[in-house]
Amino acid sequence: MDPCHEHEHCIDEALRQGEEICRSSGQRFTDIRRKVLQLVWRSHKPAKAYDILEQLAEDETGAAKPPTVYRALEFLQDNGLVHRLSSLNAFIGCTHPGKQHQCYFLICRICGDVSECCSSALTRSLQNAAAQSGFTVESSCVEISGRCSRCSENPA
Ligand SMILES: [Zn+2]
Ligand SMILES: [Zn+2]
Ligand SMILES: [Zn+2]
Repeated sequence: MDPCHEHEHCIDEALRQGEEICRSSGQRFTDIRRKVLQLVWRSHKPAKAYDILEQLAEDETGAAKPPTVYRALEFLQDNGLVHRLSSLNAFIGCTHPGKQHQCYFLICRICGDVSECCSSALTRSLQNAAAQSGFTVESSCVEISGRCSRCSENPA
């Protein structure tokens, strides 16, 4: 979603945050991690792992091997820089990485737009509901499917 004016800025910002998060946790922001993050951020739509592999094969001289790319994706996920949307089996760049947050996604099944919606009220409700079963929530990722505002306005 995020109608940005210049997507270059979104990519730059995402890479800057990647660098910063790695630096502050003493990890290396290797070339492949940077490249994969950049490819996830190619647009505001979710990216599939094979699209990323394909892209890498196109612009790199030595194409990256799938396990290397999967490891990089895992690293980015672990560091909160990208989120995995299991219902789509795809990845999306986090718009506010570094902050410990639970993720709620609104996924438009018509145009494919995905937006991250943060709601501390929802987080609390989930924690309360889980607590009733004696369960402690560590992380949650909720994927909500429906129609985005634009697609609701113009029903096909
Ligand atoms: Zn953008
Ligand atoms: Zn996020
Ligand atoms: Zn839509």
